[in-house]
Amino acid sequence: MTDAVLLSKVCRHYGSVKAVDGIDLAIGEGEFFALLGPSGSGKTTCLRLIAGFDSPTSGHIEIFGESVDGVPPYRRNVNTVFQDYALFPHLSVIDNVAYGMMVRGASKSERLAAAEHALEMIRLPGYGTRRPAELSGGQRQRVALARAIVNKPKVLLLDEPLGALDLRLREQMQEELKTLQKNLGITFVFVTHDQGEALSMADRIAIFNEGTIIQVGRPEDIYRRPNTRFVADFVGSSNVIPVEFAGLSSQHQWASLRPEAIRIVETGGKQARVVSLNYLGNSTRIALDVEGTRLHALVSSYQPLPDEGDKISVDWDPDDVRVMEGE
Ligand code: ADP
Ligand code: MG
Repeated sequence: MTDAVLLSKVCRHYGSVKAVDGIDLAIGEGEFFALLGPSGSGKTTCLRLIAGFDSPTSGHIEIFGESVDGVPPYRRNVNTVFQDYALFPHLSVIDNVAYGMMVRGASKSERLAAAEHALEMIRLPGYGTRRPAELSGGQRQRVALARAIVNKPKVLLLDEPLGALDLRLREQMQEELKTLQKNLGITFVFVTHDQGEALSMADRIAIFNEGTIIQVGRPEDIYRRPNTRFVADFVGSSNVIPVEFAGLSSQHQWASLRPEAIRIVETGGKQARVVSLNYLGNSTRIALDVEGTRLHALVSSYQPLPDEGDKISVDWDPDDVRVMEGE
């Protein structure tokens, strides 16, 4: 099958700044693909290169099997949704949505029908006559989405589209975006620095750091089997333990163990001293001293909990210990 988006050895250097530095990436048709990484790791640059707003200093990009080297943005069959929406304040909602089609020379009736349909898709039917200023933040974000999907792009690029929304609205929009992507059946490339967002929404995730991709995988792969200490720290919080402590032998030095993989047991396991307890509502975070190594366990609050200073036994499934590359 042809990849929707293919990057081969793509670099974008600004003088001595290596914003994107040798990226290989294949995104499948119909995938919800997240680019996840800290601020400044090259996510936006990567998206702009796919969109055609910027060109690689070296390397190649293909969209649906065709090279887009030198192809301008409006010829690429992609559309972009930006974090700041970039709606025209003086135009009504419907004219904002239909603007791209007008530029392309579509007839007025064709434009209105398509824009009205796009507003239904994002659940704002009948809002066409309002101005952007008369909408809430979440509604404005949805109009920006309608404006991007009205052109029926084969790939939709989204740069932190939910970043400006408060938590409740963001969670609601996460579900809506996921549903919208399924209904449209098009490829989404979604940039975020929020690991929870990437884990909950994406089919696959690429972890960015300093202009390179550190790991690509499904959310459960990334979360359960981080390949480096960077990924283990950035995605969720993990215990980083020496491999010998985990009873493994490896050329590598460190392994990761997720706090929720540690269980309190009656018999067997390892002896642990409870250093502190941190009540988090549903769960409780317990700091443990296990043979001189500090481990954090995350357990349900709805079970008998030990007290500070208690001696307890803890255990985990050896499968949950993952050896990581690097020092
Ligand atoms: P992210 O979206 O992951 O936060 P960016 O892709 O925006 O990261 O930026 C990656 C790096 O490239 C940063 O160090 C940034 O300062 C740099 N950068 C981005 N655009 C430019 C530019 N036009 N000129 C110089 N440096 C840039
Ligand atoms: Mg960015």
